[in-house]
Amino acid sequence: MRSISQTHTKSGGLDVFRLIAAVIIIAIHTSPLESFNQDADFFLTRILSRIAVPFFFMVTGQFVVSDIIRKKTGHGRKTLTGGKDISDSRNISKLTAYIKKIALIYAAAIIIYIPIGIYAGHYNNLSVAKVLKMLIFDGTFYHLWYFSACIIGCILIFTLSRFMSLTAMTAVFAVLYIIGLFGDSYFGVIKNIPAIETVYDWLFNIFSYTRNGLFFAPFFLLMGVWMRRLHLRLRHKACVSGFIISLCAMTAEGFALHLNHMQRHDSMYFMLIPTMFFLYQLLLQWRLTQKPAFRPLSAAVYVIHPAVIIAVRAVAKPLHLSPILVENSLVHFLAVTMLSFLTAFLFVYFISGSSNPLKRGKIKPPRNTASPAVHMPTDDGRTRAWIELDRAALAKNVYFLQSLIPNGELMPAVKADAYGHGAVIISKELNKLGINSFCVACADEAVELRKNGIKGDILILGYTSPHDFYLLRRYNLIQTVVDYEYACRLNQYGKPIRVHLGIDTGMHRLGIRSEDTDEILKFFSLSENSASGFKNLKTEGIFTHLSADDSLYPAQQAFTANQVLELKKLIDTLKSYEIDIPKVHLLSSYGLLNYPQLAGDYARVGIALYGVLSSKDDTELWQDSLTPVLSLKARISSVRTLHKGECAGYSMAFTAHREMKISALTIGYADGLPRNLSNGGGYVLINGKRAPIIGLICMDQTIVDVSAIEDVKAGDIAVIIGKSGDMTIKAAELAENSGTITNELLSRLGKRLKRIAV
Ligand SMILES: *Cc1c(COP(=O)(O)O)cnc(C)c1O
Repeated sequence: MRSISQTHTKSGGLDVFRLIAAVIIIAIHTSPLESFNQDADFFLTRILSRIAVPFFFMVTGQFVVSDIIRKKTGHGRKTLTGGKDISDSRNISKLTAYIKKIALIYAAAIIIYIPIGIYAGHYNNLSVAKVLKMLIFDGTFYHLWYFSACIIGCILIFTLSRFMSLTAMTAVFAVLYIIGLFGDSYFGVIKNIPAIETVYDWLFNIFSYTRNGLFFAPFFLLMGVWMRRLHLRLRHKACVSGFIISLCAMTAEGFALHLNHMQRHDSMYFMLIPTMFFLYQLLLQWRLTQKPAFRPLSAAVYVIHPAVIIAVRAVAKPLHLSPILVENSLVHFLAVTMLSFLTAFLFVYFISGSSNPLKRGKIKPPRNTASPAVHMPTDDGRTRAWIELDRAALAKNVYFLQSLIPNGELMPAVKADAYGHGAVIISKELNKLGINSFCVACADEAVELRKNGIKGDILILGYTSPHDFYLLRRYNLIQTVVDYEYACRLNQYGKPIRVHLGIDTGMHRLGIRSEDTDEILKFFSLSENSASGFKNLKTEGIFTHLSADDSLYPAQQAFTANQVLELKKLIDTLKSYEIDIPKVHLLSSYGLLNYPQLAGDYARVGIALYGVLSSKDDTELWQDSLTPVLSLKARISSVRTLHKGECAGYSMAFTAHREMKISALTIGYADGLPRNLSNGGGYVLINGKRAPIIGLICMDQTIVDVSAIEDVKAGDIAVIIGKSGDMTIKAAELAENSGTITNELLSRLGKRLKRIAV
């Protein structure tokens, strides 16, 4: 139902494009079409290929910078209830972790290229100023500027974000980009203005090009942040046309500048911005599953390819192959591409083979400050795989959510087995906490609660077949009126039935449309006390469901406001006809968190009650107020050695490239562990350490790599969701990594799992 972060969960398209971008960068440095047509080559390498580097910046923006800049009310994902700042220290540690990683790659690359740089005479007449210029801006070898640009861009954004909104920063970086443009492909314009040219000449003492961490990187890094925050859903066709038109315009721009000898360099164009915007949107819509292995591979190709170019030239000469391997630009390009990928692949393969926790860069060990109540497992040593429910956390969440509606009542949504937690066990607990109203999706769910002694009102939110109307009376349930015709059928049952009237204010799923006042008036004037018509319907409530309350961006906010207005108008109309207004409700979890002031008589809270939210971002934003209720655990059934070259699991999907220690776990996809976390897609925690999932997840079992964990033995516990030692895996992270939202992940947890309240 929720779709907050779906635009970036299935980011496989981005992963694939990383490889394409790496090939494009090789093209820039090898000019594949040079032997054939100068103009075609100019288009390919000086215009089209300019999309590659901004693409990498945008990816960094989306996945890294988004997390390191401060989120506060007024920009970004805000909350009307006074947005909470994610703690600064946390942002800083994410920033330093990222910078450390990039600095390490940069340092390694610098070392690789030192001999080549010396040979090429790059390091003649070194001075301190020249070294700093190279290290900070130009790169010590010509493509390495990218890494320092990433670092500078991130630091700049992080710093400015302390006292500027995202919009203001965007404006600042747009100005910097324009300044950069005039030092790059628009330099010809500056040349005609001597005063300004002096300034640029002076600038070029500090750096050789403006396509660097100051003028170029920050804008695209921020564009990546916007891509994540906007949750835009442009139509595919609009993106394709937008991309083609922008690219054509950029081509015209590039050739016009080129032919008029305006360009000092050719990395920056005005039209590069819309081109990147549409391209990135297209890639986000390319919904493949993530390909984490492509990330280090593309980075390695980027670092290695200039060395490969030199190697190809060096080897071709003595072998007398230069005429075809070097002088034919296309063959040269293809040879360099193939060799670069081969080298990069071997490099990544050996690096990742020696340090298994790095295989998946995506999942970071969370620094969880708000630790939930002490978590003592009631492990009897026998249960195969189980869900542990933290009663204290549930109580805390109920208390917090109730505090948001002082004049209303919580009506917890315990549908879908209480989002996988176990409807009976959770509802019993809620009864104890004083909760007296529940909502479920269907009659069978309601009957199950009643058979297990759950007290209070139970509202069925969905459709119940006329064959089952007898259940409504037998178990004292409340049925939603899903439309006018359905009201007639309910009434025809002939005996009194308790109902809430559903109103469709924009979700267009269930309910009478709010503008159909005739039908609604008829419904009310005919029900209950009237002699004819709907005399069997006992109308106790009227409600609507908000469809965009999870986002506070202007369009969604306006949409929500309109839904609320529709409901209010309707109620005013009913009042004007002197109809007694029954209980009114409209908020679910996100509605309650974002718009508590709208609370009616009930809030139908689901996901938030369980201490999580649909996306990782939202869960983090509210983690001080909401505590996860569920942990998922499984037992280790066997530990064994896997020799180098042997495969583990089905289909030979995993091969050991070194001697390993592996374990089988008593949980599989039938228990709700998403199968697309197979083979490096996820990990579990054992003794507070990560054990990466290897091979394909089976129906009932999963194999994990425990090489790095001492003392693992059969019978031990593996944590799939929850805490182990100092480490935590959040349900929202697991959901994001498997390409879905927390709601789906949790509600699919299998029947076979035992539910244990602790
Ligand atoms: C599922 C559902 C809810 C609960 O939604 P959450 O986002 O999980 O709080 C509320 N109202 C209706 C109509 C629902 O279908």
